[in-house]
Amino acid sequence: MQTQLSPAYRATAEGQEADAILRSCVHCGFCNATCPTYRLLGDKLDEPRGRIYQIKQVLEGVPASTIQACCKAIASKSLASDTCGTS
Ligand code: SF4
Repeated sequence: MQTQLSPAYRATAEGQEADAILRSCVHCGFCNATCPTYRLLGDKLDEPRGRIYQIKQVLEGVPASTIQACCKAIASKSLASDTCGTS
């Protein structure tokens, strides 16, 4: 995934780590099998790829207030999943 993190995030070690993780996601969707909300709801609109994209938007400068509350709570767990090569 192509990213353009805002300078405030790009200048930090955490931002650089997040950038590397985001860039390695190829949107294959294999993480759906282990996503708690997708497994519970079965809704493609509530799957890891959407949350990853929303995290990317925030790190690129889109206001965090536009992110769904449920995404904030579980986004870090989705990105930290060891079910794909991105983490
Ligand atoms: S996070 Fe990993 S498993 Fe999920 S869509 Fe991206 S590359 Fe595929």
